[in-house]
Amino acid sequence: MAIRDVIRMGNPILRKVAEVVPVDEITSDAMKELVQDMFETMNAEQGIGIAAPQIGVSKQVAIITIPSEEGKEDPDSSPVIVVFNPKISVIDEELQGFWEGCLSVPGLRGFVERPRKVLIEYYDHQANQQKIEVEDFLATVFQHELDHLFGQLYVDRIKDITKLSYNEEFQEFHTED
Ligand code: ZN
Repeated sequence: MAIRDVIRMGNPILRKVAEVVPVDEITSDAMKELVQDMFETMNAEQGIGIAAPQIGVSKQVAIITIPSEEGKEDPDSSPVIVVFNPKISVIDEELQGFWEGCLSVPGLRGFVERPRKVLIEYYDHQANQQKIEVEDFLATVFQHELDHLFGQLYVDRIKDITKLSYNEEFQEFHTED
């Protein structure tokens, strides 16, 4: 188990469609170790989600923290969902915008609009098929993380490039946006 290096925008691994994990490999020791490393790396970097390509492993695995009811994003107390081989479908096409950040694009934030409600079909860490419907901010979190499995970054989805900002300038100029 280890905290791994997070690769950054510009590394071509982040631009590849990640490999589907064969269902009979989901419960393997190698996958358990990968998920554990992702969990430790996410916590060390204080992220709320991370995808395997972000630690240089081009496989369709992501973990996402479900915020606790108070809306806090404390990864120590919030459940984490492990997602293998997801398929995503839009339930409500109405767009909602949030300022997103990414461990692979450190220091920046950008305003991205995405569908407000989506359905994700996936395999969990025990290789059971699951479905989850998510909306509002959590829908954005899922779409952001799952984009990583298909070679996309949030910066690709910024429509108004004036809404890409360094964190400090975001705090100073954009918190009302
Ligand atoms: Zn990201």
